[in-house]
Amino acid sequence: MAYKYVDNYREQGARKKLVDELRKKDIQDEQVLQAIGKVPRHFFFDETFWNQAYKDIAFPIGEGQTISQPYTVAYQTELLHIKKGDKVLEIGTGSGYQCCILVELGAKVYTIERQQKLYERTKQVLPRMGYKPKFFLGDGSKGLEAYGPFDKIIVTAGAPTVPEMLLKQLNIGGILVIPVGNEELQKMVTILKTGENNYERHELDTFRFVPLIGGPLTP
Ligand code: SAM
Repeated sequence: MAYKYVDNYREQGARKKLVDELRKKDIQDEQVLQAIGKVPRHFFFDETFWNQAYKDIAFPIGEGQTISQPYTVAYQTELLHIKKGDKVLEIGTGSGYQCCILVELGAKVYTIERQQKLYERTKQVLPRMGYKPKFFLGDGSKGLEAYGPFDKIIVTAGAPTVPEMLLKQLNIGGILVIPVGNEELQKMVTILKTGENNYERHELDTFRFVPLIGGPLTP
Protein backbone atom coordinates (compact mmCIF):
# COMPACT_ATOMS: atom_id res chain seq x y z
CA MET A 1 0.00 0.00 0.00
CA ALA A 2 1.35 3.43 -0.91
CA TYR A 3 1.93 5.82 1.99
CA LYS A 4 -1.09 8.10 2.19
CA TYR A 5 0.72 11.36 2.97
CA VAL A 6 2.32 13.75 0.53
CA ASP A 7 5.30 15.98 1.07
CA ASN A 8 4.14 19.23 -0.54
CA TYR A 9 5.76 22.67 -0.88
CA ARG A 10 4.27 23.98 2.35
CA GLU A 11 5.78 21.17 4.43
CA GLN A 12 9.09 21.28 2.52
CA GLY A 13 9.33 25.03 3.19
CA ALA A 14 8.53 24.58 6.88
CA ARG A 15 11.21 21.88 7.09
CA LYS A 16 13.80 24.20 5.55
CA LYS A 17 12.93 26.85 8.15
CA LEU A 18 13.31 24.27 10.92
CA VAL A 19 16.80 23.40 9.62
CA ASP A 20 17.75 27.11 9.65
CA GLU A 21 16.42 27.40 13.21
CA LEU A 22 18.52 24.41 14.35
CA ARG A 23 21.60 25.91 12.69
CA LYS A 24 21.00 29.12 14.67
CA LYS A 25 20.70 27.03 17.85
CA ASP A 26 24.26 25.83 17.15
CA ILE A 27 23.71 22.48 15.48
CA GLN A 28 26.79 22.52 13.26
CA ASP A 29 27.02 19.13 11.58
CA GLU A 30 25.80 19.78 8.03
CA GLN A 31 25.11 16.09 7.41
CA VAL A 32 22.81 15.96 10.44
CA LEU A 33 21.05 19.14 9.26
CA GLN A 34 20.68 17.65 5.76
CA ALA A 35 19.12 14.51 7.24
CA ILE A 36 16.63 16.65 9.23
CA GLY A 37 15.90 18.45 5.95
CA LYS A 38 15.06 15.14 4.26
CA VAL A 39 12.83 13.31 6.73
CA PRO A 40 9.17 14.44 6.47
CA ARG A 41 8.39 14.93 10.18
CA HIS A 42 4.71 15.62 9.43
CA PHE A 43 4.33 11.95 8.41
CA PHE A 44 4.66 11.15 12.13
CA PHE A 45 1.69 13.35 13.03
CA ASP A 46 -2.03 13.01 12.56
CA GLU A 47 -3.02 15.31 9.66
CA THR A 48 -4.90 17.58 12.10
CA PHE A 49 -1.56 18.49 13.71
CA TRP A 50 0.61 18.96 10.61
CA ASN A 51 0.92 22.64 11.54
CA GLN A 52 2.87 21.52 14.64
CA ALA A 53 5.25 19.17 12.85
CA TYR A 54 8.00 21.68 12.01
CA LYS A 55 7.96 23.57 15.29
CA ASP A 56 10.99 22.81 17.43
CA ILE A 57 8.91 21.03 20.07
CA ALA A 58 8.31 17.49 21.36
CA PHE A 59 4.78 16.24 20.65
CA PRO A 60 2.56 13.43 22.03
CA ILE A 61 2.49 10.23 19.92
CA GLY A 62 0.09 8.25 22.14
CA GLU A 63 0.73 5.69 24.88
CA GLY A 64 2.00 8.54 27.09
CA GLN A 65 5.08 8.97 24.88
CA THR A 66 6.47 11.76 22.69
CA ILE A 67 8.28 12.32 19.41
CA SER A 68 11.45 14.10 20.59
CA GLN A 69 12.04 17.80 19.92
CA PRO A 70 14.00 18.23 16.63
CA TYR A 71 16.77 20.09 18.51
CA THR A 72 17.19 17.11 20.84
CA VAL A 73 17.27 14.67 17.91
CA ALA A 74 19.88 16.82 16.14
CA TYR A 75 21.91 17.25 19.35
CA GLN A 76 22.06 13.53 20.13
CA THR A 77 22.73 12.60 16.51
CA GLU A 78 25.59 15.09 16.24
CA LEU A 79 27.23 13.50 19.29
CA LEU A 80 27.14 10.06 17.66
CA HIS A 81 29.43 11.10 14.75
CA ILE A 82 27.70 8.63 12.44
CA LYS A 83 29.76 7.24 9.56
CA LYS A 84 28.17 5.43 6.60
CA GLY A 85 27.77 1.75 7.47
CA ASP A 86 27.92 2.25 11.27
CA LYS A 87 25.95 -0.39 13.15
CA VAL A 88 23.73 1.61 15.50
CA LEU A 89 21.44 0.52 18.33
CA GLU A 90 18.61 2.93 19.14
CA ILE A 91 16.80 2.37 22.45
CA GLY A 92 13.27 3.83 22.42
CA THR A 93 11.93 3.58 18.84
CA GLY A 94 8.85 5.67 19.68
CA SER A 95 7.53 7.31 16.51
CA GLY A 96 10.58 6.21 14.50
CA TYR A 97 11.64 9.78 13.62
CA GLN A 98 15.11 9.58 15.21
CA CYS A 99 15.56 6.21 13.56
CA CYS A 100 14.88 7.70 10.09
CA ILE A 101 17.50 10.41 10.70
CA LEU A 102 20.06 7.70 11.50
CA VAL A 103 19.10 5.72 8.39
CA GLU A 104 19.44 8.89 6.26
CA LEU A 105 23.00 9.22 7.57
CA GLY A 106 23.81 5.75 6.25
CA ALA A 107 23.64 3.83 9.55
CA LYS A 108 22.44 0.23 9.82
CA VAL A 109 19.91 0.71 12.58
CA TYR A 110 18.65 -1.78 15.16
CA THR A 111 15.85 -0.13 17.10
CA ILE A 112 14.11 -1.44 20.21
CA GLU A 113 10.86 -0.33 21.86
CA ARG A 114 9.19 -1.67 25.01
CA GLN A 115 5.62 -0.46 24.26
CA GLN A 116 3.93 -3.04 22.07
CA LYS A 117 1.49 -0.62 20.37
CA LEU A 118 4.24 1.83 19.40
CA TYR A 119 6.46 -1.03 18.21
CA GLU A 120 3.70 -2.40 15.98
CA ARG A 121 2.66 0.98 14.59
CA THR A 122 6.19 2.15 13.79
CA LYS A 123 7.18 -1.22 12.31
CA GLN A 124 4.34 -0.77 9.81
CA VAL A 125 4.76 2.92 9.04
CA LEU A 126 8.53 3.28 8.49
CA PRO A 127 8.91 0.74 5.64
CA ARG A 128 6.02 2.48 3.82
CA MET A 129 8.11 5.65 3.98
CA GLY A 130 11.10 3.76 2.58
CA TYR A 131 12.99 3.32 5.90
CA LYS A 132 13.91 -0.26 6.77
CA PRO A 133 15.72 -0.60 10.10
CA LYS A 134 15.53 -3.82 12.13
CA PHE A 135 12.72 -3.54 14.71
CA PHE A 136 12.70 -5.24 18.12
CA LEU A 137 10.18 -5.36 20.95
CA GLY A 138 11.77 -5.55 24.39
CA ASP A 139 13.57 -3.89 27.25
CA GLY A 140 16.33 -1.89 25.60
CA SER A 141 18.06 -1.12 28.89
CA LYS A 142 19.61 -4.59 28.43
CA GLY A 143 20.68 -3.74 24.87
CA LEU A 144 20.48 -6.41 22.16
CA GLU A 145 23.25 -8.79 23.08
CA ALA A 146 22.59 -11.29 20.29
CA TYR A 147 23.05 -8.59 17.62
CA GLY A 148 25.97 -6.62 19.12
CA PRO A 149 28.54 -5.27 19.34
CA PHE A 150 27.53 -1.87 17.99
CA ASP A 151 29.54 1.11 16.74
CA LYS A 152 27.11 3.54 18.30
CA ILE A 153 24.28 3.31 20.85
CA ILE A 154 21.70 6.06 21.38
CA VAL A 155 19.20 6.03 24.25
CA THR A 156 16.17 8.28 23.69
CA ALA A 157 14.69 7.98 27.20
CA GLY A 158 16.08 9.26 30.51
CA ALA A 159 18.04 6.64 32.47
CA PRO A 160 18.82 6.76 36.23
CA THR A 161 22.31 5.34 35.55
CA VAL A 162 24.29 4.05 32.56
CA PRO A 163 23.29 0.38 32.05
CA GLU A 164 26.42 -1.79 32.27
CA MET A 165 25.12 -4.08 29.51
CA LEU A 166 25.13 -1.23 27.01
CA LEU A 167 28.81 -0.53 27.68
CA LYS A 168 29.60 -4.22 27.08
CA GLN A 169 27.79 -4.11 23.71
CA LEU A 170 29.89 -1.22 22.35
CA ASN A 171 32.81 -1.82 19.99
CA ILE A 172 36.14 -0.33 21.04
CA GLY A 173 36.07 3.17 19.54
CA GLY A 174 32.28 3.10 19.87
CA ILE A 175 30.14 5.87 21.35
CA LEU A 176 27.14 5.71 23.69
CA VAL A 177 24.88 8.78 23.97
CA ILE A 178 22.45 8.62 26.89
CA PRO A 179 20.51 11.12 29.03
CA VAL A 180 21.21 10.31 32.69
CA GLY A 181 19.44 11.73 35.73
CA ASN A 182 16.19 11.65 37.69
CA GLU A 183 12.61 11.65 36.27
CA GLU A 184 12.61 15.46 36.02
CA LEU A 185 15.94 16.34 34.42
CA GLN A 186 18.85 14.51 32.84
CA LYS A 187 22.35 15.42 31.70
CA MET A 188 23.32 14.27 28.23
CA VAL A 189 26.23 11.88 28.70
CA THR A 190 28.59 10.62 25.99
CA ILE A 191 30.80 7.63 26.62
CA LEU A 192 33.63 6.69 24.27
CA LYS A 193 34.91 3.12 24.69
CA THR A 194 38.69 3.42 24.50
CA GLY A 195 39.59 -0.16 25.54
CA GLU A 196 37.96 -3.41 26.72
CA ASN A 197 37.36 -1.88 30.17
CA ASN A 198 38.24 1.76 29.53
CA TYR A 199 35.85 4.59 28.90
CA GLU A 200 35.96 8.36 28.46
CA ARG A 201 32.84 10.03 29.88
CA HIS A 202 31.60 13.56 29.23
CA GLU A 203 28.59 15.28 30.76
CA LEU A 204 26.93 17.94 28.59
CA ASP A 205 23.67 19.93 28.61
CA THR A 206 20.47 19.31 30.57
CA PHE A 207 17.36 17.78 28.94
CA ARG A 208 14.01 16.35 29.96
CA PHE A 209 13.12 12.93 28.54
CA VAL A 210 10.40 10.41 29.33
CA PRO A 211 11.88 7.71 31.58
CA LEU A 212 13.73 4.60 30.42
CA ILE A 213 11.67 1.84 32.01
CA GLY A 214 13.19 -1.56 32.75
CA GLY A 215 11.33 -4.76 33.55
CA PRO A 216 8.12 -6.27 32.07
CA LEU A 217 6.79 -4.88 28.78
CA THR A 218 3.75 -2.61 28.41
CA PRO A 219 1.12 -4.12 26.07
N1 SAM B 1 13.23 8.09 19.46
C1 SAM B 1 11.85 8.43 19.56
C2 SAM B 1 11.31 9.19 18.40
O1 SAM B 1 12.09 9.59 17.53
O2 SAM B 1 10.10 9.37 18.35
C3 SAM B 1 11.55 9.18 20.83
C4 SAM B 1 11.10 8.27 21.82
S1 SAM B 1 10.36 8.72 23.33
C5 SAM B 1 11.15 10.22 23.82
C6 SAM B 1 11.13 7.45 24.32
C7 SAM B 1 10.70 6.04 23.97
O3 SAM B 1 11.47 5.12 24.77
C8 SAM B 1 9.25 5.74 24.25
O4 SAM B 1 8.63 5.27 23.09
C9 SAM B 1 9.30 4.66 25.35
O5 SAM B 1 8.24 3.73 25.26
C10 SAM B 1 10.63 4.02 25.06
N2 SAM B 1 11.23 3.27 26.18
C11 SAM B 1 11.23 3.59 27.50
N3 SAM B 1 11.91 2.65 28.19
C12 SAM B 1 12.33 1.73 27.28
C13 SAM B 1 13.08 0.51 27.38
N4 SAM B 1 13.54 0.04 28.55
N5 SAM B 1 13.34 -0.17 26.25
C14 SAM B 1 12.90 0.28 25.03
N6 SAM B 1 12.18 1.41 24.88
C15 SAM B 1 11.91 2.13 25.99
